[in-house]
Amino acid sequence: MKINKKIKDFIQEDTLERFLKYVKIWSTSEEDAPKFPSTENQIEFGKIIVNDLRELGINDIIHDKHGYIYANVPASEGFEDKRAIGLIAHLDTSPAVKGKDVVPVIHENYDGKPIKFKKDKELILKIQDSPELENYIGMDIISAQGDTLLGADDKAGIAEILAVCTAWQKFPEIQHGPVVVCFFPDEELGIGTKEIDLEKIPSICYTIDGGQLGELEYECFDAWKATIVFNGLSVHPGYAKNLMINAVNIACRFFSNLPEAESPRHTEDREGFYHLYKLKGNEEKATAVLIIRDYEEVNNKKRMEYLMKLKNIFEYQYEGLEIEISYEHQYENMINYLQKEEKIVDIAKKAIENANLELKIHSIRGGTDGAKLSAKGIPTPNIFTGGLLFHSRKEYIPKIALLKASEVILNLIDLWSNES
Ligand SMILES: [Zn+2]
Repeated sequence: MKINKKIKDFIQEDTLERFLKYVKIWSTSEEDAPKFPSTENQIEFGKIIVNDLRELGINDIIHDKHGYIYANVPASEGFEDKRAIGLIAHLDTSPAVKGKDVVPVIHENYDGKPIKFKKDKELILKIQDSPELENYIGMDIISAQGDTLLGADDKAGIAEILAVCTAWQKFPEIQHGPVVVCFFPDEELGIGTKEIDLEKIPSICYTIDGGQLGELEYECFDAWKATIVFNGLSVHPGYAKNLMINAVNIACRFFSNLPEAESPRHTEDREGFYHLYKLKGNEEKATAVLIIRDYEEVNNKKRMEYLMKLKNIFEYQYEGLEIEISYEHQYENMINYLQKEEKIVDIAKKAIENANLELKIHSIRGGTDGAKLSAKGIPTPNIFTGGLLFHSRKEYIPKIALLKASEVILNLIDLWSNES
């Protein structure tokens, strides 16, 4: 299938219009909220999307009480028997940065000079912040006003998927197999698949939630969380000689033994790390939480062994001290599952190349809903949205990316629809 200029022009306009509409709708998720989804605004945002899907003549839609949207996009005539593919994006924006009252700004014909923001005169977006910016000189770039994130993560993904659905409706000559469009809440909290109904999604899915143009991700961290409790002994400090076991103080010494070179600040590419992010306590008891990350599970196992050795040394050194360590396997490297399913990755690669983009294969230095789905038996690589500097007030997306990502989605479904 050839996507002609008329279709491209239509998609560019449609996806831009949708994107500008969606980023203005508040859908920030909230850390440690006592409910799921964490915020009501994600449900409200979902209602708007459901309406937009219905306007496209898609009526088989479930918007459940947890905020999940499952929309069945019927196949073109004669393509009903083709394999169904799932397209996934998330409804929430990161709680790390304000996401309310987002006002998108289009910087037309970007000249390569630093971009200034209306709502924060100190904030500057320059090529050093994001080398990809250089590729977009002479093009239009969209950012927020400097006081909020933009929300291209993942409203670009939603707009791109809907633009493709619109193109299918408007140009019936683009024939395609069955597609299930799924939008999840609370992805930014790492719990986007918590209440998912696996029966409602196809056995092959793609998340549209990545960064730069041409990017394809099908490897992520092997992720562990460690909770370490230090049980000490409190005594009046004036009479504590040879008696007090100061749990919080010992905890600080304990963590100063982690190699600094293996911290997020000093690691990149395929290097793993320990990351202590919570420590609270007093003389009696201190509790620490850290995450351990690597692409290779065996390296994480070594880090856990090291923590066990430290525990033994510290318990020996401070008689009476008790250290309890518990681990939780948060998610697995999804390549373990995708390696067995080469076709899923190969078709995604081809879809990107067919859009005349340079393929960029990345390992995610984090996790995705796709990683969790892959571990549940639904292989789910991640395709770019085109947005950059996610979770930041400098977040931006070049206008062209909205078109190119949509084009890749069209190619992807076209390739699957012509698989025998
Ligand atoms: Zn995202």
